[in-house]
Amino acid sequence: MAQQRRMGGQPMFIMSEDSQRTQGRDAQSSNIMAGKAVAESVRTTLGPRGMDKMLVDSGGDVVITNDGATILEEMDIEHPAAQMIVEVAESQEEEVGDGTTTAAVIAGNLLGEAEDLIEQDVHATTIVEGYHEAAEIALEAIDEQVQEADVDDEILKQVAESSMTGKGTGGLTARSLAETVVEAVRHVDTDAGVQRDNINVHTQLGASSNATELIPGIVVDEEPAHDAMPTEVEDASIAVLDVELDVRTGEVDAEYAIDSIDQLNAAIDAEESELQGYAETVVDSGADVVFTTDDVADRVANALAKEGVLVFDDLGDSDAKQIVSATGATRVGALEDLEEADFGEAERIRTDSFGDDELAFVEGGAAAESVTVFVRGGTEHVVDELERAIGDALDVVATALDSGEVVPGAGATEIAIADKIREEAAAVEGRKQLAVNAFADALDVVPRTLAANTGQDPIDALVDLRAAHESEGRAGLITSGEDVSIDDPFEHGVVDPADVKREAVESATEAATMIARIDDVIAAE
Ligand code: ADP
Ligand code: MG
Repeated sequence: MAQQRRMGGQPMFIMSEDSQRTQGRDAQSSNIMAGKAVAESVRTTLGPRGMDKMLVDSGGDVVITNDGATILEEMDIEHPAAQMIVEVAESQEEEVGDGTTTAAVIAGNLLGEAEDLIEQDVHATTIVEGYHEAAEIALEAIDEQVQEADVDDEILKQVAESSMTGKGTGGLTARSLAETVVEAVRHVDTDAGVQRDNINVHTQLGASSNATELIPGIVVDEEPAHDAMPTEVEDASIAVLDVELDVRTGEVDAEYAIDSIDQLNAAIDAEESELQGYAETVVDSGADVVFTTDDVADRVANALAKEGVLVFDDLGDSDAKQIVSATGATRVGALEDLEEADFGEAERIRTDSFGDDELAFVEGGAAAESVTVFVRGGTEHVVDELERAIGDALDVVATALDSGEVVPGAGATEIAIADKIREEAAAVEGRKQLAVNAFADALDVVPRTLAANTGQDPIDALVDLRAAHESEGRAGLITSGEDVSIDDPFEHGVVDPADVKREAVESATEAATMIARIDDVIAAE
């Protein structure tokens, strides 16, 4: 419907005739509904007993995951308000790496509560103010929940394990994966904080996830240029080249008229000595491992193999960059420029084959403290989900180590926040008080959902949790094996980084208040 105004009797069109406009309550409620629907779609994946989703795209590719951010990203959501909830999950993933489902579900419930308030004639701006006030109280409550004890390796392992439970890692392996994750993060912990970018994750099909291990270096998909080359070189001097070790082929095809056997032999000899020359130059340089982004002729590879040099050819550019940054090598563009000063160093370079895949392991590189979590799993879906779970775990452990702050998981922190908000709501004047209280109600979704996903009655669980919080202080709904109990999460090692909760409160509040404030949607065709 186009907008029309009259000016001097002439109709004036300020919008294209094709654009769509929705206003007032209609706009509010359709946006809120869309946002709620998105949050609802990930609710069943929350927590240790959360279920997975199988997402099939238009090309038939299948993703099986429990990860909120991945689900929302794969869902191809178009509605603009719904898209804002997707962005909550995305920013959560970006900022702290975990808690994406929690954040999306809280945002959805804030919208649901806002809808009720609008129906009771509370104005959107009042709701927005109330929500912001409540969010401030929530952040204070999170500070109060921070564990007193220092964040040591044991707590970091608990953080890792809590983030991985329910992620299809197979309960048995969660502990050993957690140990690997903590070891990786410790490895890149510096005075300037955790260098998360120096941790790589490399997935490799073909063994059980128990075989997942930490490689003290980098792993690249590269295979030796010749079968007879060594499979392992210790204390390696490494040359990284952008050089072709093959007979020079000109831009144009040159044709030579060869009239005699002598001429032919001379041509072959010339070629042979050119190739031999390449091999000799490399050997003389003293490099014992060579990576080059270009071709290496079989005869050169053969000659180098005889000299015990390990060569990788046709190297991908990103692999070349990784090797350079790990070993401290300088890339060399012409063979005659190769000298020892350009070499990188590594304690060990080895190759290994996994089914059809050949991999090179560059361990103990001299330049960067990179480590690689080498993820194993029986099927592609298993390794993919494991890679996401380990990615989340690395993020939360890095976050927890950097900030040194963890809070109880299993819904205990949300119960404590809601309790504090309700306490302080009493002092808030007017209708805004309703909004502050609604915020507390919205946070109840986390313990309620954890209960529902373990097959418990969510209302009973909530009542019991509040009572336990009142009498014991910390109370979460702990899942351990087959058992579900209400207890202090710290006693059971269920801990989340404080920053994950802070980010969830902030990003959910931001999205919900932004959506609630909109009362006019103008969409161009
Ligand atoms: P998110 O995407 O929000 O991280 P998850 O599915 O990873 O969603 O679930 C995280 C929630 O599960 C957190 O509230 C965390 O405290 C809780 N949790 C983790 N382990 C347990 C456990 N053993 N018992 C109960 N709750 C747990
Ligand atoms: Mg999680």
